[in-house]
Amino acid sequence: MSEKAILFDTSRCTACRGCQVSCKCWNDLPSTLEKNGNPSTGSYQSPMDLNGDTRLLVSFHEEVGGDKGVKWAFGRRACQHCGDAPCVQICPAGALAVDEATGLVSVDQSKCIGCQYCHTACPFDVPHYRADNGRIEKCTGCIDRIEQGLDPACVSTCQPEALKFGDRDEMVALAQERVGYLHGKGYPDAVVYGEDEVGGLHVVQVLKYGVVPHGQIENPQVNPMVGLSQIMKPVTGAVTGLTVVGLAAMFALGVGYKRHTVAYNPETQDTVDVATGEVVKHGDGQDTESVREHILENLPKKGGSDE
Ligand code: SF4
Ligand code: SF4
Ligand code: SF4
Repeated sequence: MSEKAILFDTSRCTACRGCQVSCKCWNDLPSTLEKNGNPSTGSYQSPMDLNGDTRLLVSFHEEVGGDKGVKWAFGRRACQHCGDAPCVQICPAGALAVDEATGLVSVDQSKCIGCQYCHTACPFDVPHYRADNGRIEKCTGCIDRIEQGLDPACVSTCQPEALKFGDRDEMVALAQERVGYLHGKGYPDAVVYGEDEVGGLHVVQVLKYGVVPHGQIENPQVNPMVGLSQIMKPVTGAVTGLTVVGLAAMFALGVGYKRHTVAYNPETQDTVDVATGEVVKHGDGQDTESVREHILENLPKKGGSDE
């Protein structure tokens, strides 16, 4: 099988959210009830962001402006299936993997330990923690369907053909052709997104009004800690749980959160507090579950200190 991609053409999307519903149906994900954004203004977008129950979200962006009097630009929030997927590189448990046949990034939830490093590493803020099973949730590209010769569930439901699936080269060519057409129709900011970003994405997009108006990120960058973690892995050894402790220390240092800095000693197999030298966890009994608990207790929390 050759490299594949989903093509999302915002100039054809009506924001019906059929794709969002189809994703939930195929993947047996619940739809939780919540208010749509600010209660006084409301929003057509629901939920307001990806969460542990939602792998795909149609985003609504208002009042883009311009001489066409644009009021709405729609977007797709989901895994972009990066060519150089940092989530795969950072995952200490091997739960995320690039499918060699298609280039899509899959998740094996049975291997996931819930450490959420993939969330920290993802330039698009995609993987989200699923509270009911303590695992990570994200789009898998519907590899289970593709292997049966079917299109991804989201693609199969899209009536105006804003979503297509096929060989990546072909999807890129279709996107370029469409952007050329849009330029001719008076949309000079139309652009192809995903051709080269993060090693080339496997979700290629036609963004009618440019990158930012559709909620996408201009020049997405990978957290430099992802590269350092590759150095740290051989040092901390091959056992998943122990590697996780090493990475916990790396992220604590990398993001500058105020917390105890721990390190793994491969000789004694103990985890020690770097500042005091005190053993915080002895080598004995460092099974996957106990290390997982330790990581969850010490997880970097966005937007605040834990001490
Ligand atoms: S199903 Fe198609 S038209 Fe409807 S929101 Fe999804 S991409 Fe847009
Ligand atoms: S978009 Fe995020 S979760 Fe998806 S492959 Fe890229 S880094 Fe991984
Ligand atoms: S490819 Fe499958 S898992 Fe991914 S967004 Fe579409 S329906 Fe959901």
